[in-house]
Amino acid sequence: MTQANAQPLYDTYNRAGLRFERGEGVWLITEKGDRYLDFAAGIAVNSLGHAHPHLVKALTSQAEKLWHVSNVYEIPGQEKLGQRLVNATFADKVFFTNSGAEALECAIKTTRRYHYVNGHPERYRIITFEGAFHGRTLATIAAGGQAKYLEGFGPKVDGFDQIPFGDEKALKAAITPETAGILIEPVQGEGGLRPVTEESLRSLRKICDEHGLLLLLDEVQCGVGRTGKLFAHEWAGVTPDIMAVAKGIGGGFPMGACLATAEAAKGMTAGVHGTTYGGNPLAMAVGNAVLDVVLADGFIEHVRDIARLFKQGLASIADRYPDVVSEQRGSGLLMGLKCVVPNTAFIEALREENLLSVGAGDNVVRLLPPLTITEDEAREGLARIEAACERLSVVNKKKSA
Ligand SMILES: *Cc1c(COP(=O)(O)O)cnc(C)c1O
Repeated sequence: MTQANAQPLYDTYNRAGLRFERGEGVWLITEKGDRYLDFAAGIAVNSLGHAHPHLVKALTSQAEKLWHVSNVYEIPGQEKLGQRLVNATFADKVFFTNSGAEALECAIKTTRRYHYVNGHPERYRIITFEGAFHGRTLATIAAGGQAKYLEGFGPKVDGFDQIPFGDEKALKAAITPETAGILIEPVQGEGGLRPVTEESLRSLRKICDEHGLLLLLDEVQCGVGRTGKLFAHEWAGVTPDIMAVAKGIGGGFPMGACLATAEAAKGMTAGVHGTTYGGNPLAMAVGNAVLDVVLADGFIEHVRDIARLFKQGLASIADRYPDVVSEQRGSGLLMGLKCVVPNTAFIEALREENLLSVGAGDNVVRLLPPLTITEDEAREGLARIEAACERLSVVNKKKSA
């Protein structure tokens, strides 16, 4: 047996050689004491930054009382968070999970069961879009449809029909008597920060209503305030039947949720679905604490104000460094820069300026600061992004030479 690599972890990640020891708000601090401005936020997870006092208190005080009981018993924190989500959204029903992919699995199963209990078990297929990302389970890689995530994992789970992004004709052609629903991210995260226009989201709603399909939204990345609304679909003034949420809702604690109307969830009766850890008291304490902050007066307005500042700053950067950045994209604080240079080179240049970012498809760099970022921190971030562009810009290098 050859031992090519002695480290004990799966080699599934090409990790950056950074070792963080602690976080303070939008800052991450390495073991050596270097400070980084965190515009990756654990991939849109640390919505309230690191070590937010209200979250720390919620988690530690719950940790002293009770961690886990299982869903065999009533869990007051779950009822409270569920009711708050119902009050704040289109939904009547909530199922708590540990992750985004599990929230999507629940959304997919809820959709299939809805048609099943309506007497249409043949309606199980879900239409999805190219460039989508819905997670890494067997069903969610099939839903996402990206070859790089499907390769080598056996037969693709059946029941997903993928069509080009923004192609209404293809969409209408893809609807068959077996179609159960349409699943879409209001803003594609991994796919490269492509927002669905408000008009097409409204049109999707209409098509679903006309064909008796359920509209499933994946707001795992764009939800919980990130776009400057509590949920991104609110911009379009339409509501889904089912929505998957995760990432920002836990502020760093692993949790997710599947929200549905009572009608859509009617097939999800006792015993048909479950989770051991989902909705555990620790997660619920943190989830409730996140909502305390996000739903407080002025918080969403703050997100919009900061987003405006970034929009102007990034537009100016894209203008001045056309050989590095071709376009800014996204919605609210779910921001992207479409790169001219390889996005990996841009991410590295940003890291040289002690700013953390995340790559996305379509050669985009994602900028996802905690929603709590201040104006001063945003300006500091813009200055670092500009400095990274300066490093990479051939044109400007020539000028100064
Ligand atoms: C991250 C993500 C998922 C998967 O969430 P996990 O918690 O990694 O399972 C699904 N959909 C979208 C849009 C995401 O950004």
